[in-house]
Amino acid sequence: MAKRPSKHLRPARPLGAGHATSATKADGRWVVRSVPGDRAVKTYTCPGCQRAITPGTPHVVAWPAAPTGFNQAASPAAERRHWHSGCWARKH
Ligand SMILES: [Zn+2]
Repeated sequence: MAKRPSKHLRPARPLGAGHATSATKADGRWVVRSVPGDRAVKTYTCPGCQRAITPGTPHVVAWPAAPTGFNQAASPAAERRHWHSGCWARKH
């Protein structure tokens, strides 16, 4: 089967490492990853507006870059929260 570029134009990266950036907000540093619509398969509640992020909606997922406490959570990834892209951009 011939491989043609379709919508996957970004270079392949190891699973879980793709496309994460960091952002600094008033409550600390966060790792942020965008979730494309075709990867959004569940409904989440956005902490910014308390409204639903419905499946198929491109959005962002953010979690603390470094726990400030001493390993309070088993993994920072357990703190992941899903945000509407606009709500995350407006967060301070
Ligand atoms: Zn929202």
